[in-house]
Amino acid sequence: MEQAALNALLLFSSPESHNYGNASSVHWAGRRVRGAVDAARETIARCLQVDDADSILFTASATESINTALKGAFFSKKSPTDNFHLLTSSVEHDATLETMKFLSELGAKCSILKVNREGELSLEEFEEKLMARSSREGDFLFVSLLVANNETGVVFPYRKAVELAKKYGAMVHLDAVQAPGKLPGFNLKDLDVDLVSFSAHKIGGPKGVGALYVKPGTKLSSLLHGGAQEKRRRAGSINVAGVAAFAAAFECLPDRDYVRIKKLRDILEQKIRDAIPGVHFNGGGAAERIVNTSNFVFDGVRGESLVVGLDLEGFAVSSGSACNSGSILPSHVLLAMGHDKQSAASACRVSLGPGNTEEDVDSFVETLIRTVRRIRDPRTTLA
Ligand code: PLP
Repeated sequence: MEQAALNALLLFSSPESHNYGNASSVHWAGRRVRGAVDAARETIARCLQVDDADSILFTASATESINTALKGAFFSKKSPTDNFHLLTSSVEHDATLETMKFLSELGAKCSILKVNREGELSLEEFEEKLMARSSREGDFLFVSLLVANNETGVVFPYRKAVELAKKYGAMVHLDAVQAPGKLPGFNLKDLDVDLVSFSAHKIGGPKGVGALYVKPGTKLSSLLHGGAQEKRRRAGSINVAGVAAFAAAFECLPDRDYVRIKKLRDILEQKIRDAIPGVHFNGGGAAERIVNTSNFVFDGVRGESLVVGLDLEGFAVSSGSACNSGSILPSHVLLAMGHDKQSAASACRVSLGPGNTEEDVDSFVETLIRTVRRIRDPRTTLA
């Protein structure tokens, strides 16, 4: 976690600091922390370059933000089942795909956009789908797209996608969880988007805190009932320490050295390419990527063995998608990119953070070389 975020978390968690009030309370202790919540909202709005701080709605995760965006728009319609049409991509986070399934059971019509082998979206196919849907009388079009994919790092042409969606009268939500701090220059200035989801723990803030940008005037039903918090858009006592820490983490982003992190990622990939035969990078071709993510698969190496082997040596990498039994299921993102089940369950995802150094990369690659060699030939010793 960013030190500034940790400081904020501690400041608003300690009863001794007189900053432990409930922001909904009328008394002095409540007023005192309400000021901190307002300040956090203003900071995040300023970092995203949006004018109205009230457009920032605090949630308990990006998963909640995404659920609020999709379900909130669906339930805000008078007769949502008749005409709500959701258009999204096959490589979205499960928060979007599972919410889509839920809404489709309630009668929403859903269309899924394919991606190519590199994980890229076709704007032509997107426009065709928009055109086909928008011509239907009374249809309400809702588009939900990633800014950048969390598994491959591939960046969607989100500005053009928003423009196109607006041309066809759609309401648009972006899952921007992977953008701040990883996509240089990301902000919402001059972007005519309706809803955008963010997560604190992806930018050096605490876990369990999220935000949803809601364009002023957007109609959205609340998911949670039972209180007037967040201007009646989300009931429940606000996580004061969490949102103050989220804002503190946002404020650290301009100091982030994107060039250095990207250089480290490129060195990592070059070293792997040079040292380990039979490696394939996913989304690492011509596609634009966020600076810190690398996704690769080795011929003849299962994801589980790789994750366990690296874990034993202290490296935390992910592969496929974890299931309840602890085994690894194929990644829906790689399946959608045309990989077979074996390869989609075997790819390794590495994310670099601002604290990583070239020594970390060297030590990771050395361990990776040994681990892959051992998995391919179990007679190799742990030397
Ligand atoms: N969307 C994307 C692209 C993500 O990477 C994640 C988390 O990894 C989420 C949504 C969900 O975020 P949270 O963990 O805050 O619910």
